[in-house]
Amino acid sequence: MENLTLFIAAAETLLESAASEMLAHRDEVYPNEAVGVLCDDGSCYPLINQARSAHQLEVSAFLVSEAIAMLVERGKSPVAFYHSHPTSSSGPSARDVEMMQTKPQALFVIIGQDGIAGWMWDDGLESVGAISLPDRERNVEPN
Ligand SMILES: [Zn+2]
Repeated sequence: MENLTLFIAAAETLLESAASEMLAHRDEVYPNEAVGVLCDDGSCYPLINQARSAHQLEVSAFLVSEAIAMLVERGKSPVAFYHSHPTSSSGPSARDVEMMQTKPQALFVIIGQDGIAGWMWDDGLESVGAISLPDRERNVEPN
C-alpha cells in the first residue's frame, strides 16, 4: 500500500524532529509515564498524566480537547498523541490498543526504552514508523 509507505516516511521524519522534546518531557516526569500532543512541526504539548504512574495513563478527555483547541488557535496542527513507557518497549500495551480502537486512524506515538514508534488502529494494529534511540537515550538516568 503506497500511501502507507509515504505515511510511514512522514511519520519517521516527525518522530526524528520531535524526539528531543519528547525525551525531555519523558525525563522530566520520570518515573511516571509522560503524555502529550505532538504537532506536525515536531513541537510537543505536554499533558498531565492524572494516574501519576509508571505503568498507567489517565488523561481527561476534556483537557485533551481543550489542549487541541488551544493549539489550533495558535496556528499549530496537532497530529498525534504520545506517551512514554519508562520501563518497557515502544510496543503498545493491551490498554493502548484498546485506546487506539476508540480513535481509528489516529497516530499514537510511544517512547519506549528501545526507541520511539508510531502506531495506529485501522481494522487492525498498524506499525507507522519507528526510530531507534542511541544507547545513552534509552534509559532515564535518575537525578
Ligand atoms: Zn502505553
